[in-house]
Amino acid sequence: MAEPLLRVSDLKKYYSMKTGKLFGGKTIVKAVDGVSFDLQAGQTLGIVGESGCGKSTLGKTIIRLIEPTSGKIMLDGDDYTTLSGGDLKKARRKMKLIFQDPFASLNPRMTVKDIIGENIDIDHTYATKAERDDRIREVMEMSGLNLDFMDRYPHEFSGGQRQRIGIARAIVLPPKLIICDEPVSALDVSIQAKIINLLKSLQKEMKLSYIFISHDLSVVKHISDRVAVMYLGHIMEIADKASLYRDPQNPYTQALISAIPKMPGEATGEKIELVGDIPSPANPPRGCCFHTRCVHAMPVCSQIQPELKQVDRDHWCACHLCQGCSKA
Ligand code: SF4
Repeated sequence: MAEPLLRVSDLKKYYSMKTGKLFGGKTIVKAVDGVSFDLQAGQTLGIVGESGCGKSTLGKTIIRLIEPTSGKIMLDGDDYTTLSGGDLKKARRKMKLIFQDPFASLNPRMTVKDIIGENIDIDHTYATKAERDDRIREVMEMSGLNLDFMDRYPHEFSGGQRQRIGIARAIVLPPKLIICDEPVSALDVSIQAKIINLLKSLQKEMKLSYIFISHDLSVVKHISDRVAVMYLGHIMEIADKASLYRDPQNPYTQALISAIPKMPGEATGEKIELVGDIPSPANPPRGCCFHTRCVHAMPVCSQIQPELKQVDRDHWCACHLCQGCSKA
């Protein structure tokens, strides 16, 4: 297999947090705790999990909007983790982030043209203003935005159109990788489908890679080639899409997949209810982080944290029950 575009190795993001105790105790929050994966050029890795599992922190840590505590990020053959100054700025051109709420990330006092053109202006990429405006027009068309709206302000657009502005801004200097952090979760279902289709067609046209972060397994299924399931800062299972949805190995993945609403005529299996809340990452359970909610938990699960092990050709699972694990 070719060298991956992105290789994330044992990435951790820990926060120190005050406990609120009288004499100023501190605790460590392990938001991302030893995440590793590869992403091939032109592919999409979906990252799913419940709210608070660390998926958004993972995305922001990969792009170094948040500095990692430890671990390594290799991007296009370079060690992105150690870059600084001009080298980091240059490498950042290859990686962009699309947010869940584009409105919050769009400057309300800037026109659409200037929001999209900001990256060009910072990098002084084009020689003339006409060249700059041509490029802005081109990406607006690619993103499905009406060129008559170039001089309008963000508040004049709907949620779906604002997300298109966010996408146009991300692609104006063609990146290699876009991290999409819940890009459609604030949108109506019909608009969600249009934005997903836009991302897919841009991927084809520009040979983009995506990390697509979402809590919604049915949305992730539509766009991903591979899917990673996160829980309390850990990857519980990662596999090619077909294998993961057809044959989930980890009890947590099985529960999430059983809860996906079925289409008319689709076989309905038994829904596995997840009881209790996701524990606090400031006080994660010992052993397997899922054992407090797992219907298959065994004594070993509260003692030993299972490693991510290969269970099939492109299918890895962290569970003592999985084939290949020997500690159960
Ligand atoms: Fe459940 Fe144990 Fe597997 Fe964790 S290791 S998912 S608790 S069976």
